[in-house]
Amino acid sequence: MSELYTKVLIIGSGPAGYAAAIYAARANLAPIMVSGLEPGGQLMITTDVENYPGFADVIQGPWLMEQMRLQAEHVGTKIIQEQIVDVDFFSRPFICHGEGGTVYKAETIIIATGAQAKWLGLESESKYLGFGVSGCATCDGFFFRGKEVAVIGGGNTAVEEALYLTNHASKVTLIHRRDKLRAEKMLQERLFKNPKIHIIWDHVVDEVLGEDNPLAVTSVRLKNTLTGATQVLSIDGVFVAIGHIPNTKIFKGKLDLDDEGYIIGSPLSSETSIEGVFSAGDVRDKVYRQAVTAAGMGCMGALDAASFLQDRGIT
Ligand code: NDP
Repeated sequence: MSELYTKVLIIGSGPAGYAAAIYAARANLAPIMVSGLEPGGQLMITTDVENYPGFADVIQGPWLMEQMRLQAEHVGTKIIQEQIVDVDFFSRPFICHGEGGTVYKAETIIIATGAQAKWLGLESESKYLGFGVSGCATCDGFFFRGKEVAVIGGGNTAVEEALYLTNHASKVTLIHRRDKLRAEKMLQERLFKNPKIHIIWDHVVDEVLGEDNPLAVTSVRLKNTLTGATQVLSIDGVFVAIGHIPNTKIFKGKLDLDDEGYIIGSPLSSETSIEGVFSAGDVRDKVYRQAVTAAGMGCMGALDAASFLQDRGIT
């Protein structure tokens, strides 16, 4: 069993984690990042990225994460590919246990474990992920200019994504498994009023259909949830918006989380309910969920951790 001590421990390796690492390292805090078993976060399953500032040409999500990792390492972050499986926020320094047996002792912790989009769980959905199936309209909507797309879900995210997609697509079909939306009334009104949006109630996606060479979605087979009848809807893209799950299982009962499991905190700081534990990115943000906003919050986390340490004379 090995034991590591650090002034700043960063858990998670998406844009929030890497930005926190870069800022903490440049503040001479020699941070340790525990990157998880699949480093890089949600951008690792994204293809083209056109909305991350600083790149005039299209870049690839995995490439961007690789650059962030290299940048974090170059400025002095130690990155360990392990999963944190338990945390003790009562001890000072805090103690975190890795699944490989490493014990991390940390004066401050920045939680940047992110969130996972929920998926329908269809084999065809995974097959076309990044090739017509997407979990983020803001990221990928642009690629469907003048095309027909479907959005799956009936919550705020689905309605916001459908509305956003009308800026690009010629027609947006919202497919919902019931006959009532869960989304806020104001959003619903905007949805119903938009002439580009059509709604198919009481249906679920049974299968995503498309071409193999090159991979491209051409339609979805829908199933009526009341009668079981199926129909095929021709579309070029499917946006799955059935919710997200924040990666906070190990923090349950140890930090204040909201009903959906997101870390509770003020929008103007990265503080959590435990002094010295900070959070950044999608693990605390269910509204913006962008790489650039997550990176911004990672920077906030590192600056907050640095002033926490300075206030206590831990330099
Ligand atoms: P929600 O959990 O609110 O909604 C998920 C939707 O997907 C529901 O309509 C649900 O149907 C449907 N659904 C779930 N599983 C399946 C499935 N397997 N097949 C088909 N449909 C499915 O998630 P959201 O991401 O929309 O929102 C999460 C949280 O984030 C909420 O608190 C929301 O208010 C918040 N949010 C706030 C925003 C804002 O303030 N601007 C923007 C976006 C989100 P059913 O209704 O039948 O359960």
